[in-house]
Amino acid sequence: EKNYDSAEYYLQKSYQLVREKQQTGNLNLNYLVWGKIKYGREEYDSARYYFQQGLESALETQDLKSQKTYYLNFVKLYKATKDFQKALEYQKKYTQLSDSLATLKAAEQLNTLAIEYETQQKENQINEQQLEISRQKSRQIMLGGGTAFLILASIIGFLLFQNRQRKAQIALELEKAEAASLREMDRVKSHFFANISHEFRTPLTLILGPLKKLMSGSLEENPRLYFQLMKRNAERLLQLINQLLDLSKLEAGKMELRLEKGDIMAFFRSVAGNFISQANAKNIHFDIQIPTDPLITAFDADKLEKVVNNLLSNAFKFTPEEGKISLSISQRGQNLEISVKDSGIGIPEERLANIFERFFQVQSDPNREVRAYEGSGIGLALVKEIIDLHGGEIQVESQLGEGSHFRVILPLIEQGEMMESVISFQPAISGLEENQPVLASRSNPASNAPVILITEDNDDIRLYLKTLLQSEYQLIEAAHGREGCEKAQARIPDLIISDVMMPEMDGFTFLKTIKNDPRTSHIPVIMLTARAGKQSKLQGLNIGADDYLAKPFDEEELLIKVRNLIEQRRKLSQKLGRDIVRLSPEEIEVESADKQFLSRVITVIETYMADENFTIEDLSQEVGLSRSQLHRKLKGLVDQSPSVFLRTIRLKRAKQLLEEKVGTSAEISFLVGFNSPAYFTRCFREQFGVTPGEIGSLG
Ligand code: ADP
Repeated sequence: EKNYDSAEYYLQKSYQLVREKQQTGNLNLNYLVWGKIKYGREEYDSARYYFQQGLESALETQDLKSQKTYYLNFVKLYKATKDFQKALEYQKKYTQLSDSLATLKAAEQLNTLAIEYETQQKENQINEQQLEISRQKSRQIMLGGGTAFLILASIIGFLLFQNRQRKAQIALELEKAEAASLREMDRVKSHFFANISHEFRTPLTLILGPLKKLMSGSLEENPRLYFQLMKRNAERLLQLINQLLDLSKLEAGKMELRLEKGDIMAFFRSVAGNFISQANAKNIHFDIQIPTDPLITAFDADKLEKVVNNLLSNAFKFTPEEGKISLSISQRGQNLEISVKDSGIGIPEERLANIFERFFQVQSDPNREVRAYEGSGIGLALVKEIIDLHGGEIQVESQLGEGSHFRVILPLIEQGEMMESVISFQPAISGLEENQPVLASRSNPASNAPVILITEDNDDIRLYLKTLLQSEYQLIEAAHGREGCEKAQARIPDLIISDVMMPEMDGFTFLKTIKNDPRTSHIPVIMLTARAGKQSKLQGLNIGADDYLAKPFDEEELLIKVRNLIEQRRKLSQKLGRDIVRLSPEEIEVESADKQFLSRVITVIETYMADENFTIEDLSQEVGLSRSQLHRKLKGLVDQSPSVFLRTIRLKRAKQLLEEKVGTSAEISFLVGFNSPAYFTRCFREQFGVTPGEIGSLG
């Protein structure tokens, strides 16, 4: 009670503060405290006032608890003022509010419960969800793990794949490289087989051909020629096979030097002597410089002979007639120098490094794999191997078109290492080992027999062809393409038989030249080839070869082909001769070179048409041929001699003029260069089967 004043004081302050700050809630509490103070001071009216203010503000703010408190304070106040009706009234309000508050509380509790329940539910749900989530997560993890695993697996797989791919790539590249080297090996091999088969075919042709002839009993000439031919070629085969065997022995390291003591200079003289006949036959100046003093040393004669033989054979093979070859042997300290020098075709600089390779041959035309010379490409490889075996050295210098110089340096073997046996060498007999037999002159062909040109560098093949053809045909021979061209142009043969591999000018170039020259373009050509390969066959046929024969060829086949081609050509020329009368040169179906030639001849004839003094001599001069060339060309092409051809063209023009009614028969006969109308009429009737008068009247 005593402190009501100070309480009032602070309350006052707090009231002011609350008012200033407009804090309704606290204002409400202030009224309650004011009212209680007033009630304590028994200032019941003021207390009622404050309780009333506080209740209103509590009602305003719907503060049920405060309302309940005011109701209770009113009950107390009205009890104190003895207004029991009011006190009961507020008691009821208080109870009501209390009940509603309880209900509210219960509801609240219920609500809370519900909320709790719901919360729990929610929580459960959440838990459930979380569980689900975690389950999902774990599944996801598993899944993710799976994915990760998959990714990892893919990466590993990819790496493995990449690795495999790289390996495959490497394998592929290896395979490619292998394939390339196999292809290269294959190419070298097939190149080698093509060459080697050529090397075999030529001698085989010359063994089998004569043998068949001998067996058939149809031989009329001296059989000795055939035996010699066969023997020579069998020896050539043997030599070739020995070379191949030597090479494989060397390759396998199975070849050993078999040293024997002897005079090495005498040995060289003997080997060189074997070439003298060849030098004579080819008109080659063969210079041999070998010291006359004996030099006794140990050496493998068999192998050294191969060295010198190969070097000299090459020199002779690649040196044209009238050339120069020298062999010189000299001792230089502990070495022996063998030098083989020729004035032949030489070796291109870029090829020098390769010539000691096995099966290597310099191509005459690198684009066409045409070789001018026969050979296997074994010789120099063998030479090199043998020299290596001797501990020696081989060097080559060469200038294209000038010649080649091979130098071998061999260390001389110390006396102490020598074996005791001494071998001696007989100087070789010089001159022809076998005299070339003269062919029997029994079967001279008729002077009007068809002329055949044989272009072949192999003497034996040429000889053999000659024996086959000489009884039926007149023959011309050429040893290589260039000579063949010259002879073909000069003589205009009826047929040409040509080899493919020839020095100076190979067969394909020769064929092309023949087919493009208007003088020779009509001549049928048979190519002889060792390469039975389709490619070289097609190559030849493309250029215009009329037929092909592969070595070893059959005698009968050759004769049939020759006969057929000459007959075909004759029929064609007869047809062309008839066409000349009917058609203009453009309409005549011939090769372009022939067409050119015909047009030229006809133009010249037409220019001089009215000139009765125009002779065949004049015509041949105008077209740039000799009289006989013109004769053979026109005979070959249109089966007419130049004079018949000239008359044909004149008559043809006369017929045309008659048809155009340019003049009388006599006038026209002079216009076309006939000096006698009677002769004109006779020729005209022969040519066209009617008289000029009949044409005129018909027209
Ligand atoms: P082949 O049997 O072809 O003659 P080789 O091994 O003896 O084989 O010669 C290889 C190649 O070297 C020959 O095909 C030729 O092209 C070239 N050759 C060798 N010797 C000479 C030479 N003296 N002159 C020109 N070329 C030569």
